[in-house]
Amino acid sequence: MDFAVTILGSGSATPTANRGLTSQYIVCANRHLLIDCGEGTQMQMRRFGVKFQRIDYILISHLHGDHYFGLVGLLSTMHLLGRVQPIHIFAPKELEEIINLQLNYAGAQLSFPVHFTATQADEPKVIIEDEKIEVTSFPLSHKIPTTGFKILCKEKDRKLLDDKAKAHGVKIEYYHRLKKGEDITDENGKLIKSSDYTLPGEPAKLYAFCSDTRYFEAILPVVREVDLLYHEATFTEAFRDRAKATMHSTAIDAANIAKQAEVKKLIMGHISARYEDGVVHEEEARHIFQNSEVVSDGATYLV
Ligand SMILES: [Zn+2]
Repeated sequence: MDFAVTILGSGSATPTANRGLTSQYIVCANRHLLIDCGEGTQMQMRRFGVKFQRIDYILISHLHGDHYFGLVGLLSTMHLLGRVQPIHIFAPKELEEIINLQLNYAGAQLSFPVHFTATQADEPKVIIEDEKIEVTSFPLSHKIPTTGFKILCKEKDRKLLDDKAKAHGVKIEYYHRLKKGEDITDENGKLIKSSDYTLPGEPAKLYAFCSDTRYFEAILPVVREVDLLYHEATFTEAFRDRAKATMHSTAIDAANIAKQAEVKKLIMGHISARYEDGVVHEEEARHIFQNSEVVSDGATYLV
């Protein structure tokens, strides 16, 4: 499970017995991220076996309460569990004030540093980058400033053909560079080609999270050909007027984005509490984009 998305909450506005509020736990190349943190997220983490202290990054899409009301509670629990390592929060800038206000009035001081970075909903921007992953925020279109997030798990190193390298007397000190795809000329002037001693590594993989948003074609270049697309589908077609009024999407909207962006798989969530299940959403979406499904809380998707 090198790149996996676990759905912690897939409901919208109010929690139900079946669906918590928006939150997802993402593991990518041993980095641990939480996207959104609706009320009840820590209970869902307990239910689904997510370890609190592993999380390095928390990304918040926007400041509607169903996407972040669980955050101060989660930070508080991390503190009570004795966390010392820093946490990085990426969110609309006002959230920093909200967190501080709540903690200050409680006279609480967290046992770990919070590094806060304000997101901007005007253009795509790389917000996290290291040698293994890259995270981009990008604008969605909703009632208040909202960003989606795209997570890239970078291409893996090439795989060394160990036995062949040994048999041909390739020096161990060259292995690392060969795995990086480098051709090497040794001290005798002999060329050692990476492609002779390695096989291609796993290709880069992409996941994109789009909630909340109306149907918004401006995201197409960003989510183009991602391996897994999560797109909100709050409503079915019967409630298209309601979707329009609240700047949300229907299942057909989500499927149209998935189809045009040529993604590999579409998963839909942020399902209105008025629905018992996702059957109609799936029927409607699959007419347009076959590889579509409505998520359930606790489900894990490999990217
Ligand atoms: Zn919203």
